[in-house]
Parts: sequence; C-alpha cells; structure tokens
Amino acid sequence: MNDRNILEKANLRALLETDQVDRIQDRLNIVDTFLDTEDHVTLEELFRLLKKKGYDYDPKFVRQCMNRVVELGFAQRKQFEDQPVRYEHRHLGRHHDHLICTKCGKIVEFSNAEMERLQVQIAASHGFHMLQHRMEIYGLCNECLAQRAPLMPLAMAKPGERVEVKEIAVGVGGKSRLASMGLRVGDKLEIISNDGHGRLILGHECTRLAMGRGIAQKILVSLSNAPADAICKDES
Ligand SMILES: [Zn+2]
Ligand SMILES: [Zn+2]
Ligand SMILES: [Zn+2]
Repeated sequence: MNDRNILEKANLRALLETDQVDRIQDRLNIVDTFLDTEDHVTLEELFRLLKKKGYDYDPKFVRQCMNRVVELGFAQRKQFEDQPVRYEHRHLGRHHDHLICTKCGKIVEFSNAEMERLQVQIAASHGFHMLQHRMEIYGLCNECLAQRAPLMPLAMAKPGERVEVKEIAVGVGGKSRLASMGLRVGDKLEIISNDGHGRLILGHECTRLAMGRGIAQKILVSLSNAPADAICKDES
C-alpha cells in the first residue's frame, strides 16, 4: 500500500470510529481491500477480492460499508454506459477522466490540464460556472483494435463506428443499386444502427441510408479515425 493509502486509511478509521458503528475491524478490512486495488471495482469484484483474503462477508454488509465510504468522500461511484456500478478511489484535489473500451470493458484513466481548462472556458463562454463534468471517451483499446481484421464486411461494423469503403464485391444488380445510392469506394460511412440481423442505417454525406444486410455483407470496409464532419460537413 502506498503512503497516500496509509493516510487515507487512518483518516477513514478516525471517521468510522466517530460513526459509532459496530464491526469496525470488518469495515476496515473492506476498506483496506478497496484501497489496495487501483482498479475500478464492481461490488462483485470486491467480494471476490475479499474472499481471496479469506473474508466471507454478507454482500449487504459490503454494500452498506461502501456506501458509507462514498459518503465520507473516500470513494466515488462510476457507471460507464451499460456496465454495472463501479467504485474507485477518490483522492482530494485530484481529478481524472476515463477512456473505456466498448469491446473488452478496459478502463484507462487520463488527466489533461489543457482539456480541463478548455471545459471551464467553454462553460464560461455560455455563461456557465462549471461545477463538475464527466469526460468519457468510448472506443477500442489497442489490443481490441489489433484483433480486428483490417478489412471487414460492413455488416459487422458496430453502431457509432466510422468506416471507409474499401471494396464493393456485389453483382451487377447490386452495383447499380449502390450507384443509385451514390456509394463509392473511398466513401466514409457512420454506422447509425446495426442490430445484427435487420437492415443497417448508415450516415453518408449528410443523409441516412437504409441498407439490406445481404449487400452490407459484400461491402468491405476498414475502421476510420476520420472526424464526424468527414461524413457530413456543416457548411453553414
Ligand atoms: Zn476532467
Ligand atoms: Zn479492449
Ligand atoms: Zn478512474
């Protein structure tokens, strides 16, 4: 455990004692285990870490204890998109933001002074006094990106992804249908929806296209890092 966590633990112990609650040692065991991990843990992951240390506590007790740790300002709850609630350390005077991999769930922390300054400035330019913010960047981590085939059928692309058309492997009929949509190799598309079985809805040059799954299987694309305005440039 690093020095900061030793201080936090002493601080928390003093506060818990003034709470006049029972099972102080059990609570401290939970707090210890939580402070020992630098991960963003779910309650379930915390039970598992406790079990590994030989503590088998009632889940209700652990939740209640963590609620108090949050109230006392030593932990904060985070919920990323549709993931379960996670707990992370809360260190006074320190702030960070998150990158979240939508494939494997990996969470990476970052802090960027310039970005923080810009957010205050943007809020102020709208007459807002910023109190707090959430900055969450969703995407694919390095490992997940490496696992993706460089070329994939458009039908496999996920909602929110931007792709570039690399190859159109459809028959003559399909080709003329695509031509009437104005779709060519090199075009950038944004996947608006793709439920895995029905038609895809795609953003393409400021319009939304509905494309049958059969055709989408035959269009090969690669992931594109192009900004959103590569799909539709706002000329106004
Ligand atoms: Zn921030
Ligand atoms: Zn990942
Ligand atoms: Zn964090």
